[in-house]
Amino acid sequence: MSSIPIPHEISFEGAAHHRVLIIGSGPAGYTAALYAARANLAPVVYEGLEPGGQLTTTTDVENYPGYVDGVLGPAMMEDFKAQAVRFGAEVKYGEITHLDLSQRPLKAVVDEETGILADTVIVATGASARYLGLENEKRLLGRGVSACATCDGAFFRGVDLAVVGGGDTAMEESLFLTRFASKVWLIHRRDELRASKIMQQRVKEHPKIKIIWNTIVTDILGADEVTGVRLRNVIDNSERDLAVRGFFVAIGHTPNTTLFRSWLDVDEQGYIETRPRSTQTNIPGVFACGDAQDHVYRQAVTAAGTGCMAAIDAERFLAAESG
Ligand code: NDP
Repeated sequence: MSSIPIPHEISFEGAAHHRVLIIGSGPAGYTAALYAARANLAPVVYEGLEPGGQLTTTTDVENYPGYVDGVLGPAMMEDFKAQAVRFGAEVKYGEITHLDLSQRPLKAVVDEETGILADTVIVATGASARYLGLENEKRLLGRGVSACATCDGAFFRGVDLAVVGGGDTAMEESLFLTRFASKVWLIHRRDELRASKIMQQRVKEHPKIKIIWNTIVTDILGADEVTGVRLRNVIDNSERDLAVRGFFVAIGHTPNTTLFRSWLDVDEQGYIETRPRSTQTNIPGVFACGDAQDHVYRQAVTAAGTGCMAAIDAERFLAAESG
């Protein structure tokens, strides 16, 4: 994604013209599609590079209301998609690579080549958890490596776990994991936490949490499941292996909003700003929902909720526009 201007050679003559263009296909995007489809707005969803979004990188989801026995993340996203399609949403594989939101209809380019027009745009591009970038971290993702304690913590009862990070997310994840784990090792690369004082205090006082300072994780160990992590002390360069059954990465998230930053107001971390109690951005007819505008809750159910809000906001905007 980039925010570079639309190349001159892209033509919008005879381009498809949508009432509602939804960019992104996690719980927010598909819920927006479901509501917009049921409002007879024939929405089109461009799924982006990671169809289904972050939930496709997790296994069981046990905290989405309605799934009594839990559901696999990818299967849940298939359900969301099928429900939206059933009411007429069109879901297309493709990435929106350029935008021009300076005039109406709004302009977008799919996969660097196809121009499309839209009366409203719903941004549902989500956020991506940051990972350390280790090869074995990727290989063992969903098999002991996770970036979401709320999603996966309950699978690790009575075992030792490690969390990496020193911000509020790492504190929250560590504290949450104490509900299940016998011990939580919090690994931080410096000798001082970045998190708010109150969260630091809770972590430091918790009997199940032990902080390992000045230390980086250099490898994740395990053939099919995580069995440990390799650590290096950055002061004396000493290495050691720590036996854990789960490894939680909590070094922040990055909102997938690069494409929009030259058009939409974003906060200092890049999350899209919306008006209070609304999904309306600073550009009329452009709405934002899900993790692209939420760094506080970041749950599938809250993303779905704001997706619903975005579709209702778009519907009302179109109704007001057409008088
Ligand atoms: P932050 O950017 O605040 O913290 C990220 C942490 O990860 C830092 O401690 C950083 O270390 C560490 N880190 C980053 N990259 C690496 C790496 N490659 N290897 C090892 N460690 C690394 O992100 P958060 O997600 O914690 O928080 C984001 C924002 O959301 C903050 O403003 C936070 O306050 C807020 N938030 C608020 C919550 C609440 O109020 N309940 C809950 C969760 C988040 P270093 O410190 O050395 O840079």
